Amino acid sequence: MASQEIETLASALARLPGLGPRSARRAVLWLVKNREAALPALLEALDAVSQTLVECSNCGNVDTRDPCGICADPRRDERAICVVEDVADVWALDRARLFQGRYHVLGGRLSALDGVGPEDLAIPSLLSRVENGAVDEVVLAMNATLEGQTTAHYVAERLEPHNVRITQLAHGLPVGGELDYLDEGTLAQALRARRPLD
Ligand SMILES: [Zn+2]
Repeated sequence: MASQEIETLASALARLPGLGPRSARRAVLWLVKNREAALPALLEALDAVSQTLVECSNCGNVDTRDPCGICADPRRDERAICVVEDVADVWALDRARLFQGRYHVLGGRLSALDGVGPEDLAIPSLLSRVENGAVDEVVLAMNATLEGQTTAHYVAERLEPHNVRITQLAHGLPVGGELDYLDEGTLAQALRARRPLD
């Protein structure tokens, strides 16, 4: 049995997505072994992030400033908005600068099972960005899951009355695939081959 402090740290880490109790313990052991080299940098990074993280009031991205770095970047093409389910998808798509426009985070997907309805998603703010801005293309980049595609069709319907071109990622995306898990090559391909919504 490890000390209370170590148990507390391990159970806090075990709550992170992708880490179970076993990997959390392994992470703690690693931190103990590397405490001089790794801990100060980790603590500093956690502290900086906890002090400064904010949600972008324009697109819903998470950054250390509002508007976020992407929305504030004048080199970004304001005529194209890529709509995604989650912040992780913005980061996945933006890792390799695959998309030159801006993003809009819905904050989830429609799901009867999880009780997520349209009112739970950032759809009104998307519509007002399209209405008020010089947007001429909206790329729907939802996951290739049933719920993702249901969401894409719903958003497309809401965008229909607006004068905007609606495209979606080419689904060379694996069925059931989540954007965040795809490599950059697959994402780049899907984005390049985007097509009008059918
Ligand atoms: Zn933003």
